[in-house]
Amino acid sequence: MNKTMCPLVWVDGEMRSYKEAFIPPATHSLHYGTSVYEGIRFYNTEKGPALFRLGDHLRRLEHSAKAMEMALPFSEDTLTKAVCGLVRASGYEEGYVRPIVFLGEGLGLTEEVETHVAIMVLPWGKTSETPLALKTVKVNKVQTPERAKVGGAYFQSYYECRRAKAEGFDDVLFVTTPHRLVTETSVGNFFCVRVGGLVYPENPLIFPGITRGTILDLARVLEIPVYQEKLYATLMGGWFEVFITGTAREVTAIEKIDHTVFDVHKTTLRLKSLYTRVVHGQEPEFVSWLTYV
Ligand code: PMP
Repeated sequence: MNKTMCPLVWVDGEMRSYKEAFIPPATHSLHYGTSVYEGIRFYNTEKGPALFRLGDHLRRLEHSAKAMEMALPFSEDTLTKAVCGLVRASGYEEGYVRPIVFLGEGLGLTEEVETHVAIMVLPWGKTSETPLALKTVKVNKVQTPERAKVGGAYFQSYYECRRAKAEGFDDVLFVTTPHRLVTETSVGNFFCVRVGGLVYPENPLIFPGITRGTILDLARVLEIPVYQEKLYATLMGGWFEVFITGTAREVTAIEKIDHTVFDVHKTTLRLKSLYTRVVHGQEPEFVSWLTYV
């Protein structure tokens, strides 16, 4: 991720300077991880920058806030206008938008604390094409209420991913214990190609990625059969191709899980190439997923 942040940020309805938007040290969310957030990409198209599936991301933000009993004081319409205004003001052609809903000052764990909303933007061009190496981690993932995207839950991805990187891997693949069921990566969903088609793991606790949903729709267009099944990490010898999906990683091929090596084959490349066309507004059938700024 590029660390240059747009100098403007939207906080509680106002455009502010990023530098002036710093939060008090007694902020509840900072101590207890009580925040919910989203990550949204915008891409360059023939008609200028367009946000990909903005409405779906904002509705998921609203869902996460509700699940955590945090009152989101702004409507989807207000947040849409805020995001578009910020992207326009940034002048970036391609980038990433991070809205966060968080609890303000208050150190009492269960005290009533005011909810705030901040939206920031950073430039983000092309996602790396390099296939990744994953390390399986036998850890049951923290459950959040109604699969809300809660900031605090990411301590686990942070910690495990850093440990895996120190061992030369790019990311982790969380598998349940004791059954070794595949769930997801630090911030991405998992797919493999097996005899018969594309498979993604069945487990009600897996985060329902918007990119995963996009890929399921695109697989239908490409007439690739898709199945949702329990996937056991102990049976990875039967997988021909593996890839992960997410707003950040888009569609990224996996070349290795622990010591098992995979080739990057046709199915991954077909889906990846269609995804790239869709986000850049080159597929008329899917332009309704774009919000032009
Ligand atoms: N799983 C987890 C745990 C995630 O944090 C993310 C990123 N939000 C995803 C999957 C992928 O979701 P999306 O495609 O909506 O970015």
